Amino acid sequence: MTQKNSAIWHPFTQHALQDRMTKIVRGEGAYLYTVDNRRIIDAISSWWVVTHGHCHPHIVEAIQEQAGKLNQIIFAGYTHDPAEKVAELLLRLAPCGLDHVFFSDSGSTSVEVALKMALGYWHNIGKQRKRIVVMQHSYHGDTIGAMSVGARGLFNAAYGPLLFDVSSIPFPAGGREQATLDALESACRNESPAAFIVEPLILGAGGMLMYPAWMLKEMKRICEASDVLFIADEVMTGWGRTGTLFACEQANVTPDIGCYSKGLTGGALPLAVTLCRTDIFNAHYSKDRTRTFFHSSSYTANPVACAAAKANLDLWQDQGSHQRLAAVASMQEQQIEPFRADLRFANVRRTGTITALDLKTSDPGYLAGIGPKLQVFFKERNLLLRPLGNTIYVMPPYCVTAADLDEIYAAIGDAADALAREH
Ligand SMILES: *Cc1c(COP(=O)(O)O)cnc(C)c1O
Repeated sequence: MTQKNSAIWHPFTQHALQDRMTKIVRGEGAYLYTVDNRRIIDAISSWWVVTHGHCHPHIVEAIQEQAGKLNQIIFAGYTHDPAEKVAELLLRLAPCGLDHVFFSDSGSTSVEVALKMALGYWHNIGKQRKRIVVMQHSYHGDTIGAMSVGARGLFNAAYGPLLFDVSSIPFPAGGREQATLDALESACRNESPAAFIVEPLILGAGGMLMYPAWMLKEMKRICEASDVLFIADEVMTGWGRTGTLFACEQANVTPDIGCYSKGLTGGALPLAVTLCRTDIFNAHYSKDRTRTFFHSSSYTANPVACAAAKANLDLWQDQGSHQRLAAVASMQEQQIEPFRADLRFANVRRTGTITALDLKTSDPGYLAGIGPKLQVFFKERNLLLRPLGNTIYVMPPYCVTAADLDEIYAAIGDAADALAREH
């Protein structure tokens, strides 16, 4: 079972089943171009990171300029303009009440930082609170701590012995919201947890599961009443995906700690931030060096990545970006609407610019037999779509056109036809 291409071990890829990787040589806007000059529509923003489009000129220019000036510097004891500007703009745009910015390199590390901030807070103020409460079907990343607070199952079965114990509350499926609130209330009251971590409005990798803003508000209220820190993982939901810059805005909620990555640089370079309230920073602020926040990575606040983030933040200060968001949300609604009455699909849904629908099948789940078949079908139509099992979702960059969306949704309908014919 050996083959040539596997010298490079690709992520979430079973090399024994997928031997050929599609080679991409160029990206522009919503399109990717292959080495054999095919144009592919990127309907999932290259794993949810690209927001304004591939190679956005303003971001590219910022990267080029910074790369020739200062491209790396230790961030302990040193600082630089790109990081300072990013922090300043972020704090202006983020929910009011978040006052400190900690940089790292990926969504997973932003979550690790959030968990360490939460435990550090309780430790430094001398209270015994250690447990984390999580939501069923959550995904927070693939490092050990992030896996620990994510759903247990297929993705982490082998690593169980390394994962720490958490308390889980049910996902608030429509009509069963009260059970979620009751479970959270009970966990907060009986277990004195350190924090509750949740993806606001949409659980991404768990299957694009959506819940309403009022639930987010209620969950925050319950945490606040028990002094449980509320961690919002906006790694995917941030940067416009849910129709507002951050999902928490829709519930008028300020988390105690917020995690942001993916679209932070517009999808151009890896960078993440964890934002927190002043009392969490203050719990670590002391002449006593044992209270230091002991976390760093070599490339913390890399200047080139920060320059890209600064350019992205510039774009979000332009009203045009917000108008694009509204336009994409409205085009997405038009496209998804006819599928609501289509009996081949279930749970047809949309939040902001993201739509999702479940293809009815006798074998659902992430390893559903139809998953790989769908991927091949879409690839042949020159579309980058990567269903989560039988859940097909569309999360385009905001420069996507109505014609692009026509192509994407026609293919989704045709895929259902093709699979029906097969059975
Ligand atoms: C993708 C994702 C992460 C992990 O981000 P990486 O950059 O892949 O480490 C964490 N949380 C959520 C909600 C995500 O969607």
